[in-house]
Amino acid sequence: MKKKSNTKKYVLGLDLGGTNVRAAIIDTSGKLKSYIHFPTESQNGPEYVIKNIALKSLELIGKSGLSKKQIWRAGIGSPGPMDSKKGIIMGAVNLPGWKRVFLKDTLEKFLGVGVGVDNDANCAAYGERWAGAAKGASNVVGITLGTGVGGGIIIDGRLVRGANYNAGEIGHTSLNPDGRLCKCGAKGCLEMYASASAIAESAREAIRGGASSIMTEAVRGDIKKITSKTVYEALLQNDKTAENVWNEFIKYLGAGIANQINGLNPEAVVVAGGVINAGDRLFTPLREAVRRQTFALTFSAVKIVPAQLGEFAGAIGAAGLVINEGDFYGL
Ligand SMILES: [Zn+2]
Repeated sequence: MKKKSNTKKYVLGLDLGGTNVRAAIIDTSGKLKSYIHFPTESQNGPEYVIKNIALKSLELIGKSGLSKKQIWRAGIGSPGPMDSKKGIIMGAVNLPGWKRVFLKDTLEKFLGVGVGVDNDANCAAYGERWAGAAKGASNVVGITLGTGVGGGIIIDGRLVRGANYNAGEIGHTSLNPDGRLCKCGAKGCLEMYASASAIAESAREAIRGGASSIMTEAVRGDIKKITSKTVYEALLQNDKTAENVWNEFIKYLGAGIANQINGLNPEAVVVAGGVINAGDRLFTPLREAVRRQTFALTFSAVKIVPAQLGEFAGAIGAAGLVINEGDFYGL
């Protein structure tokens, strides 16, 4: 086993998304030095995408006034499923054509530094634990509400990866085995009730079922255009339908979070995604919903807080993982 020191001071943090890539140079305390984002262009295939990430990263290093020698390692968050130990992407829904892609090996070849690959939601959760809303906490659950619901779990300061590195899929824990059919093939997944897309879908369902709402006017009758933001704006105007949708969303999200709290007894649950802009309209009733579904002692130990790192959480977390858990990636 090689042991290298981190005297070079900087790490490259990357977040590979279906639409955009985020690249950041981060110091070993988790501070962002510089960053860029650029289109993934996944239609050009994995080889092109990985080479482009390396080129743009090397450019960023140069523009930041650093030499490549000052970059210790690189971490990259990617959609899964994957083998994070070997750095192989098995096939990602948001990256068409990515089947058994050797992301670690290929990126190492182009970048010339050691690379660690992990699940994007794991990276985001780890970022918040390392340098964000749950900084310093040992036991943390991270949940990101977007198109889906991403999750990451940190126990005793280490990312929980599981038997074949696919732990943390909180979005696919079931709240109702007879419920809505999920993309994953199971029924009633948390993601089907608590993602930003699910909030919008619940509103559409209510309106199609005859509920009257100012949301219909807000999208000029084209209810396909309803988003979670439409629901939130209607909520602020005391729209009854939006209120019902919002309360249902919080009930399910609360149950999903309570399941994690009862199972893991964390000291922090960090919630990320655009929906957290709702502030107290989200967190006050959410904490109450969670309180009702957890043991008093367990609940007293946990804070449920909004994420702090925004769109670079994944890149920061990927950097933190290669710094603190490099052994797992063979670095
Ligand atoms: Zn599912």
